Amino acid sequence: MAHLLVGSLFCTFGCGGSPEIEVTAADPVSKPRVSDREANLDGVVLILQYHRVVPNAGPYDRTPEDFRKDLQRVYDMGFRPVSLMSYLDNKMDLAPGASPVVFTFDDSSISQFKLLENGEVDPECAVGIWLDFAKEHPDFPLIATFYIMPNPFFGQPKFAEKKVELLKEWGCEIGNHTMTHPNLSKMSDEEAKKEIAEVIDFANRFGFRVDSIALPMGIFPKNRELVKGFTYNGKTYAMRAALLVGANPAPSPNSEKLDPYRLPRIQAVEGDYGITYWLDKIEKGDVKPFVAP
Ligand SMILES: [Zn+2]
Repeated sequence: MAHLLVGSLFCTFGCGGSPEIEVTAADPVSKPRVSDREANLDGVVLILQYHRVVPNAGPYDRTPEDFRKDLQRVYDMGFRPVSLMSYLDNKMDLAPGASPVVFTFDDSSISQFKLLENGEVDPECAVGIWLDFAKEHPDFPLIATFYIMPNPFFGQPKFAEKKVELLKEWGCEIGNHTMTHPNLSKMSDEEAKKEIAEVIDFANRFGFRVDSIALPMGIFPKNRELVKGFTYNGKTYAMRAALLVGANPAPSPNSEKLDPYRLPRIQAVEGDYGITYWLDKIEKGDVKPFVAP
């Protein structure tokens, strides 16, 4: 539902105005040009994959400092965040000269989204860092997909409801990361369906749609068709996309190569095929990103 909320938000500003109101380039609604790069509708799209954002970062984590630097670097390079669904729908709301970036966070750890006892967002969690960044850079709002496991749902069970409300308010998406993070290829169809279906039920109880799955470890169930949808306990489940773990940019939404059930992501880690590796390549001009006209 989150992407629909975003859509309606923009409509209040952008569409359906009375015919007397002339919309010009100077209109505050139109987004200022981000770069003088030429439009490139066939360029690649970065789907970034984050795990924990913690001071003592392991090999798959990012420190709060790294995360601040990532936001600043992609911002300075002309990237602006879009939702996964707007990418798949090829309806990315981008300023002229901007490139899209999709942020995804796996495992719903508390380091991604933590509330302090007074209910405020912890400024050192990923969400808090991004909200601070967005205050300085209003054209880089918090738009991300969180691939959750209900246990833990960002830790802090007492704040679950409040976190869901905030995620909705910001226009974030919730995705499926299964109940227990198993190797789905080692499960029977029924076991795999249970892992996937129960996350959708959990999110639906909070009024959230779940339109995509980030496969644990990037491993498909034996029956790959299950990521598209299935019937379980008499109920029908469907998803529009499946995300992998590595390791390269995703095709343009205009590309015939785009397979929504095999979307590659770039891990927010250093080293080969990580975020810095790909941003360096884009900066050098070796890889051409999508650029909005
Ligand atoms: Zn995971």
